[in-house]
Amino acid sequence: MADYDIIIVGGGSAGISTATSLLSRDASLSIAIIEPSDVHYYQPGWTMVGGGIFQAKETVQATGRVMPHGVSWLQHAVTRFDPKKDEIVLSDKSRLSYHYLIVCPGLKLDWAAVEGLPATLGQNGVTSNYRFDLAPYTWRLVQTLQSGNAIFTQPPMPIKCAGAPQKAMYLSADSWRRAGRLAKINIEFCNAGAVLFGVADYVPALMNYVESYGAQLSFNHNLVKIDGAARKAWFKVTEGEKVKEVERDFDMIHVCPPQTAPDFIKKSSLGDATGWLDVEQDTLRHKTFENIFGLGDVTNTPNAKTAAAVRKQAPIVAHNLLSAMGKKKGSAVYEGYGSCPLTVERGRIVLAEFGYGGKITPTFPQWLLQGLVPTRAAWFLKASVLPAVYWHAMLKGREWLARPTIR
Ligand code: FAD
Repeated sequence: MADYDIIIVGGGSAGISTATSLLSRDASLSIAIIEPSDVHYYQPGWTMVGGGIFQAKETVQATGRVMPHGVSWLQHAVTRFDPKKDEIVLSDKSRLSYHYLIVCPGLKLDWAAVEGLPATLGQNGVTSNYRFDLAPYTWRLVQTLQSGNAIFTQPPMPIKCAGAPQKAMYLSADSWRRAGRLAKINIEFCNAGAVLFGVADYVPALMNYVESYGAQLSFNHNLVKIDGAARKAWFKVTEGEKVKEVERDFDMIHVCPPQTAPDFIKKSSLGDATGWLDVEQDTLRHKTFENIFGLGDVTNTPNAKTAAAVRKQAPIVAHNLLSAMGKKKGSAVYEGYGSCPLTVERGRIVLAEFGYGGKITPTFPQWLLQGLVPTRAAWFLKASVLPAVYWHAMLKGREWLARPTIR
């Protein structure tokens, strides 16, 4: 007899939404969520905090408040998997058994991979919207910078919300333009990758903004070292076969950290060769262990790692797991939907929505919301609608625009 029908590893966006999607289909399930943190974040709001639009406190709630009724919350971290015995090991060394396991602990922000970064974050003009406590510092820097060099970095893919590094740049530049200081600030976007955005259809609209803000695009520039006190950053620059290191002076730098699978996934038998959770890209079922499913940022599926993806994935995992239990029929299929609302200026957004292979998959009809150009409607969606959808629909199993298709 297992301790629980279902154990969910991680009570972030994916863990909570999948639990409520399961319970809305079958309230009799015994479910445990293992989640060490006593706070739950709405991370998509942090770009808006860094842009001075949201307050940080609007993006956080106590974990206890978002935990679904009828679920056991165990405030521990999972340290190890024992999939052959259907058991997991917790940080207090106790073991729990399950019939089915859902793995969704997000990803690891690897701040330490950039030499000198942890020591200087939050001071010396070094900031990041990738941390709740630092996003307000981004806004303070934007407000106080009068002139000089502002650098925005992007590490190698995959990262969560691939648009977030450039969103920080656009909102900062827009503030400087409104304040009449843009001409005195040199903006550089240092991107470890070779393109501005992974789906080419959105690039023309983004390039219009890059040009209008006078931002310099430096591709194949990977941040490797930073000295906050000296206000210097070093980048590994790849040019064909050649790799060299270049130095930059900055007055402000917004860093998007390198990102990997969490260590306990990497060293488990659940990860693929690169460490990410190894699941089928359409069913989200583990490729080796049939009673394990995974979703969210931790998986190796080639979709955009976003909360928007999780909104679609959670009902799919709920259905497919219940189908595996014999309680539902057919298979729900994930087609790779992800979305990235690119905040190109205060009041306008290019709403990128796409599936596997970069196939454009708009939610709304063209007359209501044009995806490839900046619109006020998309800004309204991001600033006023989506936070409420997150807290009151997605985390509650209401599956707004996310009912899965069953085959
Ligand atoms: P998370 O929400 O990060 O949750 C993972 C949970 O697992 C955490 O609660 C963590 O405490 C827990 N955990 C970790 N380790 C363990 C362990 N060992 N045991 C148990 N639990 C563990 N998405 C969008 O859709 N639109 C956007 O505009 C957008 N903008 C973003 C901007 C920024 C700056 C950032 C940082 C993210 C943004 N995202 C956006 C991405 C989105 O927030 C993530 O894709 C989403 O939160 C992924 O959900 P998840 O549940 O996989 O991971």
